Amino acid sequence: MTQDENSAEESGMDLDIENLDIETLLITSGRSDEESSLAPVLYPATVFENPSLAEAHRMSTDPDATRLYTRYGNPTIQAFEKAMAELEGAEKARAFASGMGAVATLILGVCETGDHIVAQSQMYAGTVSLLNFISERLGIEVSVIDGLKPGEFEKAVRKGKTRLILAETPANPQLGIVDLEELGSIKGPITVVDSTLASPVIQTPLKYGIDVSLHSATKTIGGHNDATLGVISGTKELLDWLFSPAVLFGANAAPSEALKGLKGIRTLGVRQERQCNSALVLAEMLESHSAVESVSYPWLKSHPQHKLAKKQMSSGGSLVCFDVKNKEAAVKFIENTQLARLASSLGGPETLVTHPASTTHVDLNPQEMDSAGISAGTIRVSLGLEAAVDIVADFEEALARI
Ligand SMILES: *Cc1c(COP(=O)(O)O)cnc(C)c1O
Repeated sequence: MTQDENSAEESGMDLDIENLDIETLLITSGRSDEESSLAPVLYPATVFENPSLAEAHRMSTDPDATRLYTRYGNPTIQAFEKAMAELEGAEKARAFASGMGAVATLILGVCETGDHIVAQSQMYAGTVSLLNFISERLGIEVSVIDGLKPGEFEKAVRKGKTRLILAETPANPQLGIVDLEELGSIKGPITVVDSTLASPVIQTPLKYGIDVSLHSATKTIGGHNDATLGVISGTKELLDWLFSPAVLFGANAAPSEALKGLKGIRTLGVRQERQCNSALVLAEMLESHSAVESVSYPWLKSHPQHKLAKKQMSSGGSLVCFDVKNKEAAVKFIENTQLARLASSLGGPETLVTHPASTTHVDLNPQEMDSAGISAGTIRVSLGLEAAVDIVADFEEALARI
């Protein structure tokens, strides 16, 4: 190799990721110098042959080992984890079998009987139900607070007793915003933000001092409705500590799903741009429509936390939530959409509508429903990749029939 080639190769390895735009990081993240395949490589193996007994012993206890047994780690899963850590600005990330696998492993991995958790009332319903389940059975006390009100998280913290603070922003389904800077300044408990509704393109909670960012990568990160996957990002210390419970609970990501997560990351930037642009167009139309009682979208000036959203998010996100006058109107609207499909997920190529009161949040009691901001006329929309003009026309047509 000539000296020129040598220095060219060296400079090629010198990518200064701290200075790259997130849109570029989506393309460069999760790669290794040893891998020349541009497409992510699938290692379906559940087990790897050990070169020696000493190496087998080392890998049995090393949180970074990827060639022992896939429940411990796997090269495809590690590539996805590496990509997520880079996108979130985290030291490390770990992938799970689903978003709930990530939430459950985190809570059960760090909390013990007698501990206290602070959680906001506006949250993914599965997380609310999990907290109810845990507090009833395991003697872990949970204080549920209004995460959208300044100071409420801090007020609920019990010194030396509160182990975790769980927040979600934007929050399901009414898209309320939690102040990340305020939350990140709380010392003592581990602060966790479920950032699923934003994606790493729109917000990076760790930059505000939050300890853990969590995603259901089943949604926007996977992005094609074909992967069930969760991921948490944070410090090496916390993630290494979680290694053992994660291996024991077994909610590890499948290599095939991690591969889809990586493929999703590569196109996340352009998908999010389209979805967020369409969401704003739709939200503006809904706001001026006589059949619509209220609209929530963080990029609308009428959103109660519009200024805060502008401060910590780079766009308003791909979800819009609106209320029609009652359940009957909501049912008629949903039955009359042609392009938008009735389905309980978000972040995929198709525009989806859901009725939280009868589906995603059906397990909540009336009081929980109320504090999550859900009424019988609430409809949540996840914008897909169709042309905004067609989605708007579809919604206008369906609204005319309620
Ligand atoms: C879907 C979702 C989850 C749960 O993720 P799964 O991958 O379905 O287990 C958690 N939090 C939020 C905000 C979600 O939207």
